[in-house]
Order: sequence, then structure tokens, then C-alpha cells
Amino acid sequence: MICKRRYDGYRTDNDPADPYKTGPQDASRSALANACGTSARPTGRDIAVSIQVSKVGLPLDNKLLASLPRGDFARLIPHLSSIALQQGAVLIEAGDEVDYVYFPHYGMLSLLAVLRDGKAIETATVGREGVVGAMAGLGLYKSLVRVVVQMPTAASKIAATHFRTVVATSDPVSSFAIRYNEVLLSQARITAACNALHSIEARFCRWLLQCADRAASTTVPLTQEFLAEMLGVRRTSVTEVASKVQNAGAITYSRGVIRIIDRAALTRMSCECYETLVEQSATLS
Ligand SMILES: [Zn+2]
Repeated sequence: MICKRRYDGYRTDNDPADPYKTGPQDASRSALANACGTSARPTGRDIAVSIQVSKVGLPLDNKLLASLPRGDFARLIPHLSSIALQQGAVLIEAGDEVDYVYFPHYGMLSLLAVLRDGKAIETATVGREGVVGAMAGLGLYKSLVRVVVQMPTAASKIAATHFRTVVATSDPVSSFAIRYNEVLLSQARITAACNALHSIEARFCRWLLQCADRAASTTVPLTQEFLAEMLGVRRTSVTEVASKVQNAGAITYSRGVIRIIDRAALTRMSCECYETLVEQSATLS
């Protein structure tokens, strides 16, 4: 067994009703704890797990959780459980009560504005730098957006009731909930302008760059149906644009997988919004 850091208190969700449940069973965790020792961890970053045990990553893979002081992180961790999220799953429906707050370890979640006729368009994306549903900790009980798993993702989740309790007693947790909401609002503003004023081709390239950043990879598993919905365009438009960007040598596209082969070219074909999103996220985070 490989023990990189000590397992200490992080639990995985064994709720049989949870379709996304995953993670080590009690016996595995116990064995891991024994193998790794039981001394107190010196910092939050020492909470950990064997790479053999966790394919879903760790809470501290999420940058917001990793940024917390040890004491504040310790208040959250008894309530955190890990989940693997399948691509395409709807995590939270617009108008529904927010039951859980999600901290992605990797992958990407999309926040969609949903119209009465069922059409939806992406307003923001969230990866391991962020959190979904955090405003539930400050009294926003119903989601204003639909949250969709854009690419295979793993996350820590915490019941909104528990999160509310922690927010009430932790300034750092309360602060990141407010701060990250500003990041999402900023994304929504830029995305609205981008959707209204920039070409489909530029938006397509901007969106691919965002996805690649979230995936930390040059390979992005996305179908054209997904892309069409995220960009608010017809599938035929996505086909045309994907062909054009492919012909320009920036990507290859085959069987639902996009590979970025020339990021510089893709960046040149993107609008300014990609860089603006990166800069504003860095400023506000
Ligand atoms: Zn744009």
C-alpha cells in the first residue's frame, strides 16, 4: 500500500440511496489509517489518502477548501463526503432547493440559465477552484440555475444544513462563499456579453479553452449536442465551427473527443473573453 499522507477523519458517503456514492469502504479506511499511523496532522494539507484508495481525489484538491485555515477546514471535514459525478448528470435543477454544496476535486460543472420553453444556456462554469451551492450557506435555499456535470467530475459534498452551521461560525468559510459568488456573477456578465456580441467560432474556442483548463488536459470529452446547448446554438452550427477550427489546425475532433493540438492558435481564434474570465477569476478568488 502506498501511503503518501495520513488519512484522518475524511469520510466517504456510503448512503445506498446516493447514485453517485463512491470511495473506500470502512475496512479500507481502517487499514489505511493503521498503515499510515495515527498521529495528529500538523496542517490541513496532511489529511490524505492513498492514491490506491481514492480515485475521486481529496477535499484538498479543491482550491477553496485547501485555502482554509486548519481550524475552519476541520469544522467542515466531518460533514464532507466524496462523490464521482457522471458526465451529463443534472446535479441541481433550477428552482429546486439546494440540498448539498459541492466542491469539485477535478472536472467541470456548468451553471445554466433555463427558459420556460426548456432551452438552456451556460452562464458560468465551476472547477476545482470553486464551489457550487455555497450561497445556500447564506440563506439562498433555492437554486437559480441548473447545474450540469459537464465532464467527468469528482467532488466533496456537504449537506446545506451542515454548511449553513459552519458558515455561521466561520468567517473564512462565509467569506469564500460570498467571494466565489462574485466570481460566478462576473462570469455570467462576461458570458452574457460574449453570447450577444461575439461570433460562434470565437465563443466555441473560448469555451474549449475554459474546458481544457478545468480538465487540466488537452483532451476534452464533449459531444456536439452538449456543445450546442452550452453555446446556445444549433448542432449544425457546432459542426460547421468545429470543422473550421479543425481545418485551422487548432483541434481534432472525433467521436465525442476534442483534442487541442495548437493552443496558441485556439487562443488566437478565441475572443477576448477567455483572458478576461481568467483575469477576473484570479482577481476575485
Ligand atoms: Zn467573447
